[in-house]
Amino acid sequence: TAVLISIASGLGYYFAGKAMIPVKKSYQQQVDFTTNASHELRTPLSVIHSSVELLEECKELLPKFEQHILEGLKDEVKRMVRLVESLLTLARGDAKKRGGHMEQVDLSALAYQVVGSMQPLAAQNGIQLLLNRQSNEALPLIQGNSDQLHQLLTILLDNALKYTPAGGEVTVVCKAVKPSGVSLQVIDTGIGIPMEELPNIFDRFYRVDKARSRELGGAGLGLSIAADIVKQLQAHIHVTSEEGKGSCFEVVFHADSKS
Ligand code: ADP
Repeated sequence: TAVLISIASGLGYYFAGKAMIPVKKSYQQQVDFTTNASHELRTPLSVIHSSVELLEECKELLPKFEQHILEGLKDEVKRMVRLVESLLTLARGDAKKRGGHMEQVDLSALAYQVVGSMQPLAAQNGIQLLLNRQSNEALPLIQGNSDQLHQLLTILLDNALKYTPAGGEVTVVCKAVKPSGVSLQVIDTGIGIPMEELPNIFDRFYRVDKARSRELGGAGLGLSIAADIVKQLQAHIHVTSEEGKGSCFEVVFHADSKS
C-alpha cells in the first residue's frame, strides 16, 4: 500500500477510503474550509468582542466575582480574535500565491515605520526597542509586497517583545549583504530557544513552551505565517538562538536588480 500511495501521490492522487481524490483538489478544499470557517467565526466573535467591551465600560457596577469573570472572558475573546485573524491570514496567504502584487520596497523605511508602531508595546513591557541602520548609505530596494513585509516584521517583533523579559533589549538591523542581498534582523536578549526545538518553530500551531506561549497569547501560528511570507517573497529566514541569552531571526532578500 505504501508503494501504491507514494506512486499515486507522485501522480497527484491519494487514497481516501475507496475513492481517489486529486491531492491539489483536497488541499484546495482544506484552504477553502479554513477561509470559510474563519470568515463565519469572525462575525459572531466581533459581536461577542464588542459586547464584552460594552460590559467593561460598566464594570464598576458588577460584583467583584463577575468582574473577575469578565476579565477572563475579555482575554479569551481577544485570543480567539487573534487566532481567527491568523487562520484567515494563512488561508489568504495561500490564495495570494496565485497572484499577489509586487512592488519596490525600501526596507529601512518600512522598518522605521513598524518599529515606531511597536514602541508603545515595548514600553509597556519594559523593553528597549532600537532600530540600527548600520550604515548611512541607502539600502538597495527589494521586490515585495509592503503589506506582507509589514506583517512579517510585526510577527518577528511581536515575538521578540513577547519572549524577552522586562529590562531586555530588542534591536532591528537592516543592512546590505554581499553580493546582492538585503538583510533584516530582529535580535532580542530574551529567553532563547533550545537548539533541538529550532527545526519545529515554523510549524503551524507549534509552541516550544505551550503554557508560557498560551499565557502570552500565542497560538503557534505567527512563525508559520512568517515562513509563508518569506517563501512567497523568495527570501530566506534563519534563526540563531541561545537559551537564556536571546535569539536572532534574520531574513535575507534579493536586492531588486532595477534599483
Ligand atoms: P506563538 O504565537 O506561540 O508566539 P510562533 O509561531 O510565533 O507562535 O512561534 C512559535 C514558538 O517559537 C513560540 O511559541 C515560542 O516558543 C518560540 N519563539 C518564537 N520567537 C521567539 C523568540 N524571539 N524568543 C524565544 N522563543 C521564540
